[in-house]
Amino acid sequence: MIIILKENTSQAQLTKLCASLSELGVTPTPIVGGEVRVIALAGDTTRLEPERLSMLPGVERITCVHEPYKLTNRRFHPEDTLVSVGDVTIGAQPIVIAAGPCSVESNEQLGAIAKAVKATGARVLRGGAFKPRTSPYSFQGLKTEGLVYLKEVAQEHGLPVVSEITDLSYLETFAEHVDIIQVGARSMQNFELLKELGRTDKPVLLKRGFANTLSELLMSAEYVMSGGNGRVILCERGIRTFETATRNTLDVSAVPVLKRMTHLPVFVDPSHAGGAAWLVDPLALAAVAAGADGLLIEVHNDPAGALSDGQQSLTPGRFADLFAKLKAVAAAVGRSV
Ligand code: PEP
Ligand code: MN
Repeated sequence: MIIILKENTSQAQLTKLCASLSELGVTPTPIVGGEVRVIALAGDTTRLEPERLSMLPGVERITCVHEPYKLTNRRFHPEDTLVSVGDVTIGAQPIVIAAGPCSVESNEQLGAIAKAVKATGARVLRGGAFKPRTSPYSFQGLKTEGLVYLKEVAQEHGLPVVSEITDLSYLETFAEHVDIIQVGARSMQNFELLKELGRTDKPVLLKRGFANTLSELLMSAEYVMSGGNGRVILCERGIRTFETATRNTLDVSAVPVLKRMTHLPVFVDPSHAGGAAWLVDPLALAAVAAGADGLLIEVHNDPAGALSDGQQSLTPGRFADLFAKLKAVAAAVGRSV
């Protein structure tokens, strides 16, 4: 961090400023020569707030040299982080495909979909039990009953499950029933929830909010990691733009950019990005080509009868067709599925 001083700062003010900065636990080095009047700060500046420092007497403005996220930053952790759950490793060479219904609707529905997606090659089962719906009149999910089905079906088919948590108060039951806890786009900045997830040992699939920057996504991951839980998987699921032809705009560039910014694995959800079943294939293939470590895909045995997001759900047959294409694209970029 570099502090640029006001032109008329006196030596006494400079000395006082350096003393205040030292008290904050960093080492200030004044560099004064001709027109240049700056203080370079060395040490851990992550706890310093530039907005507050800019109010100190003599300070003109602050320039941050390092990003505000530290634990998630590839600069301080060059190797890729691998997140393992059961016999599945996320972030390694094989791309991990998580598939399943938007909502868990019954034990039979989930079991049939799990059987089909596993046979195709999915390594993780997805399914929502607590659904964050735009309308309070839409299906809200089977809640705890849905989590029970997830656990039963997961055990029967030997697939780890990922499901979205919508409130802090459900944490205990999620820890008991699911293998990966999903934080949805709408909850990406629920900081109290993120802090509590930092105290668990469950992997967290953190989705990017639809109006959040990648830096904000990493600051949210930083909340989980600074609580002591380093098992975070990021997920790009489309952002809101002026375009209305798709449900969201899949930010494909988020994948290589995140891979450069952070060591954490990066997933892509082509289902919620495009919002239409016919768009899932091209977006999934683009994501793999761009370097995604995994995909989260909605699959339903009866999309027309689905209680949520049927329009963007693949049938098991279409999922199998996509899988074959994913293999080819993955091979082209030195990966496998
Ligand atoms: C989901 O995956 O079920 C979901 C609601 O996704 P998002 O948070 O990306 O909208
Ligand atoms: Mn959905």
